[in-house]
Amino acid sequence: MTWHVWSVPMRTKFRGITVREGMLLRGDAGWGEFSPFLEYDAVVAAPWLRAARESADEGWPAAVRDSVPVNVTVPAVGPERAAEIVRASQGCRTAKVKVAEPGQTRAEEEARLEAVRDALGPDGHIRVDANGLWDVDEAVAAIGALDRAAGGLEYVEQPVAAVEDLALVRRKVDVPVAADESIRRAEDPYRVRDLEAADVAVLKVQPLGGVRACLRIAEDIGLPVVVSSALETSVGIAAGVALAAALPELHHASGLATVQLLTDDVAAHPLLPVDGALPVGPVTVDPAALDRLRAAPAREEHWRRRLADVEDLLS
Ligand SMILES: [Mg+2]
Repeated sequence: MTWHVWSVPMRTKFRGITVREGMLLRGDAGWGEFSPFLEYDAVVAAPWLRAARESADEGWPAAVRDSVPVNVTVPAVGPERAAEIVRASQGCRTAKVKVAEPGQTRAEEEARLEAVRDALGPDGHIRVDANGLWDVDEAVAAIGALDRAAGGLEYVEQPVAAVEDLALVRRKVDVPVAADESIRRAEDPYRVRDLEAADVAVLKVQPLGGVRACLRIAEDIGLPVVVSSALETSVGIAAGVALAAALPELHHASGLATVQLLTDDVAAHPLLPVDGALPVGPVTVDPAALDRLRAAPAREEHWRRRLADVEDLLS
């Protein structure tokens, strides 16, 4: 198997990082992306490699749809900027709006949601993401207020951090609850199900070990799924699109419109939304982009060793 190490600056700091790095693996079936975050050890990174190998060696299960609707993401910005982002979203009919930003008031969040509703129109969907930053009481108060400001929320993503608290909040609010950070490893979705902690499960292909692994999880847990990215290049995003395309039912827009968070991409035609959706199918990697984005020798060596460590673990 051949591999390339890439390094791409982020447009803005996200998840505390300013540069995204990873590997592309080339196998008989095509390209796979292996891009676990830098702080992950070999055990946590193992499913990420299984996902990359599935893409590179096996390819993906058959699609049942040929395009996948995606959401536009609205960060914790002011109302004018929020409306601008929605209007510039290439037709996205769902907006995911960041809330629970430290230092911001409820009034600022409400103004953001009103602006997003205005820009999206009455039939668009608005979901909010608190990234686990509220406590239970705060969450219950906030969700009611934000639901009113938004003119109805599709769901609230990870209002509180602990899965037990998620279950508590879910019993106290009418807005559906989605589990995101509560699902990081393959066993987590089952815990969310057993505690009846969420109405919607956010699944990511790399952390959960591949498209087929996610399809199995989705079937087992019996919850509607939202497919999201792990801030990948178009090669990793294509695996997310393959999952969303293969799910028997898809009720929610996917969180896969994230290539634009990177300043550059490995694909000849980056996976960016057109009419609010991403096309299904493999992406073509651009050799010139691989040259342009090639990581420094010390980083290549770091990733070569990381890959070897995870391969040892899997063999
Ligand atoms: Mg989230």
